[in-house]
Parts: sequence; structure tokens; C-alpha cells
Amino acid sequence: MDIKHALKTYFGYDEFKKGQQKLIEETLKGRDVLGVMPTGGGKSLCYQLPAILFDGVTLVISPLISLMKDQVDSLEEIGIEGTYINSTLDQKEQYHRIEDVKNGKYKIVYVAPERLNTYQFLNLVKDIDISMVAVDEAHCISQWGHDFRPSYLEIPRFINSLNKRPVVSAYTATATKEIVDEINRLIGLRNPLISVVGFDRPNLFYQVVKARDKFTYLIEYLENNFQQESGIIYCATRKTVESLTRRLQDKNISAVAYHGGMPDDIRHRNQEDFIHNRTRIIVATNAFGLGIDKPDIRFVIHYNMPKNMEAYYQEAGRAGRDGKPSDCILLYSPGDIVKQKYLIQNSTYSPERELMLYENLQYLVDYCNTNDCLRNNILSYFGEEIEDEKCNNCGNCLSQSEMVDITIEAQKILSCIYRVREKYGVTMITQILRGSKSKRILELGLDNLSTYGIMREYTEPALKEIIMTLVSMDYIHMTADKYPVLKLTSASIQVLKGEVKVFHKKDLLEAKQIIKKRTL
Ligand code: ADP
Repeated sequence: MDIKHALKTYFGYDEFKKGQQKLIEETLKGRDVLGVMPTGGGKSLCYQLPAILFDGVTLVISPLISLMKDQVDSLEEIGIEGTYINSTLDQKEQYHRIEDVKNGKYKIVYVAPERLNTYQFLNLVKDIDISMVAVDEAHCISQWGHDFRPSYLEIPRFINSLNKRPVVSAYTATATKEIVDEINRLIGLRNPLISVVGFDRPNLFYQVVKARDKFTYLIEYLENNFQQESGIIYCATRKTVESLTRRLQDKNISAVAYHGGMPDDIRHRNQEDFIHNRTRIIVATNAFGLGIDKPDIRFVIHYNMPKNMEAYYQEAGRAGRDGKPSDCILLYSPGDIVKQKYLIQNSTYSPERELMLYENLQYLVDYCNTNDCLRNNILSYFGEEIEDEKCNNCGNCLSQSEMVDITIEAQKILSCIYRVREKYGVTMITQILRGSKSKRILELGLDNLSTYGIMREYTEPALKEIIMTLVSMDYIHMTADKYPVLKLTSASIQVLKGEVKVFHKKDLLEAKQIIKKRTL
């Protein structure tokens, strides 16, 4: 049967949702698939429809025992015989169901992962023709995800124990690259079609703002946008949450705080006030948001940078659940990146895990620095195919900002770091480059360096800003000591040799008016 026809006949739908058709077609050709779609994207149909069309039985592995019955009931409504085998059934019932499966009564059998390698179940599968094994909530196999299930690790052994290898399809709503790679590897998918779709939120306007003074920017934003509507402001620490809430309240802006260190009753009250529109703004750490279902949040502003793109997508994604235009603004400051790097450096993770955290952070740094479409940048992080080069609904698509070449500035700074043998921090390097006559500089004889005073035309904050930007771009390494020292990286050598050019957005330097004389 043609699959469009089957879609109509069994499910009553005229059209496939995005991504479904390709996944179903490939599955029916016998190819393994890995489908990544957000919740509500229509994953179940992607394995149920092939299950109906395949000759043999489909096993659906799912950790959600409580939902199995619902799934089976809704299949029955469309005339498909299905059943489930899990620990909610007594031995006798399990036995009956297994006999019925053997007798060909069911097309689809839901099973909890814990059952798979039991003697009883292995015995059953010897006698039946299994066309497909569908792994639902496939991220449960990843130890790095939120819902790790050790029994999921048993899935490949189970598949390998079958007489004939069935088609294997895996589905999840978790789209981080590492987890997708891990699912693929650990389940042992063979040349799968990996399809990531549905992560776009067209009503969200993404923007990165490089404000000289974040607070001033924030006040201006709040005075001019969505004045009567709700928003979240995310901060990195409890301290910032407290102080920012106070500063907003001092400006007569309706705001409450939310973080894990507050007394439960106050925190709960603040949350309720926000949900029921008794306050306009909630200023919060990332402790806020899970399980909150407020559809009319008009803006999510990150006062500090989150730890990675996934966190950013989740948190920003709390805006505009009702589909109406909403803003997601990330206030960028290179100092935040350095803070996040410290947190990673001072943790006790394994080296691989640490590297992964750095990479994840770097992706978000690139998001802040890119001049390309921000929406596409997010989608490509998740591996979703990009349709148009520009979305025309993000800060970058709408801004005219150009990139300027800051290679020469970078080279001057890097050679200064080299000349002082990588011994000093930001302040000293800035002073040397600006030709400071401070006592310490003169005592150490640093005024004799060839790089002394070669960037006199820059203000101190401007120069520090450029240095921190180079740190954020990994052209400079900043040590994680009490007195951080600037060091060269392999990338800095390339800049010094003139092998790569360094670009940065013009507005970073201009908008803040931090350059005294130079015209860019
Ligand atoms: P997920 O498992 O990805 O969270 P579901 O499989 O539960 O999503 O599907 C979400 C909803 O979308 C269900 O109500 C389902 O019936 C519906 N749905 C799935 N495919 C289609 C389609 N092609 N057309 C219309 N509705 C669909």
C-alpha cells in the first residue's frame, strides 16, 4: 500500500508532518533510522505506520510503562492489534500475551527494556518473525542525558541475539550532537538516516546584544517593549539574581527573584506571582523554568551567558509558547565566557567530558560572534537542515552590521604577550600597550619593550574589551589562577604569522564608542 494512502486509511491524516515521510520511506526500505523531533512532532506515527505495513511483528522498546496502555488503546481504535508486556502484568497475563504474540495475534508489541533479555522473552522472540525494533525515548541510552536507563544498554545485545537482524529505528526529542552520536553508536545502528526536524520556533526573534552597560540596555528594553507583558531574565548566579531584582525594583519595574537558595515558600510565591501575572518579570537562575507552562511569555533575556547552546535553546524557548512574536535576547560580554571557562576548569570532570563542555561552550561563543543568521546557527547546532540562508527574523538578518578586520590589533596584542614571555594578565598587557608610565611598568623595565605604547590610541576599557574578545575566540588563553595570566594558543601563532585573519563585528567596537580616535 502507498504510504500516503496508509496514512489516510489508518490514521485519518491527509499530510505528513515535517520529516515523517522520509523516515517512514527509509524504514520501509529496510534502512535503520534515527529520528529526532521535539515533543509533539509526531514520532510514534513514524514507527507505527511501517509496523502496520511490515509482514512481521514490531517490538517497540519504551521506558514509559504508564503510557504503553494508552498507545495500545489508540492503536486498537484504528483497528491495529497491539499489546504490551511489562511489570504491571502478573506472570499469568504475561504468559498469555506471549502466547498470543506467538500465534500471530499482534502486529505491535510494546515492551519495557528490563524485559528484553529475560529468559521468557528471549524464548518468545526465537519463535516469531520480527520485522522491526523501534526504540522510543532513545536518549535513555546515553549516560550524559537526563534520563539514563542502564537497561537501555542491553538493547544491542538483544538485537544481536535475534535470528535475523530486523530494521532498527530510534526516536528521541533530545537533539544534542553528543547524544545523537551516542544513540547511533551504542544501539549499533547501521548506516542510519539521521533526521532532525521541527526545532525551529519561527515566532521567536533571536538577538545577541553587545551592550557596554547591560543594565542600561535592559532598562531601555523594558521601557520600550512589551510593557504590560511577562518576561524572564536569566542570570548566571544567585547573587546577580538578587542584585538585579533589587535594581529593577528601585526603578519601579515589577520584578521578583527566583533561585535555588531562597526559602521554598518565597520562591514558590514568586513563581505563582509570575505565572498569574501579578508581577511582570521573574529574574532567575537556570533553576527556574522546568515544568513551567506559561504560554504568554513575551521575552527571555539572558543577562549572562548560559553554559551551552542546548541550555540556551531550552531557556530561550520558554518564550512565545502561544506562537505569538516574542524576543530571545542574549546579552553578551566576553567576561561571561571567561567565567564559564573557569567553572569548567575548576570542576572535576574527566578530560573528555571537559573537552566536550569546552566545545559546547565554544559553540555558543560562536553564536555570539557570528554575523550570519542566528536562527540557522541554532538549527545547525541541532543538525537540522537549513532551508534559507536568512530567516529575516533575527538580530543578524535585520542588522546592517559588518565585520571588520581586527588582525592588526590582534597581532599587536599577541606579540606583546609573547614579548613578556606570557607572564602577565590583562591589566599589565593593557598598560604596556598603552604606554603607561606606572611605577611597576618602569621598575620592571617594560617600557623598553618593542610593543610598549604601540596601542596608545585605545582607551583602557576598549583595549581590555578587545583582549577579552580574543580570549573568547580562543586566540588567547587565560589561565584559571587567582591572578590569571595571558598565554598564546596554537591559533595565536597562526594570527602572528598572518595565516589567519581575525574579524569582529563592527558594532562591538563602534556602538560602545570605546575607541578614541581610530575610524574603523
Ligand atoms: P511525539 O511522540 O513526537 O511527542 P506524537 O507521536 O505523540 O508526538 O504525536 C503528536 C500528535 O500529533 C499526536 O496527536 C498525533 O496523532 C499527531 N500527528 C502525528 N502525525 C500527524 C500527521 N501526519 N498529521 C496530523 N497529526 C499528526
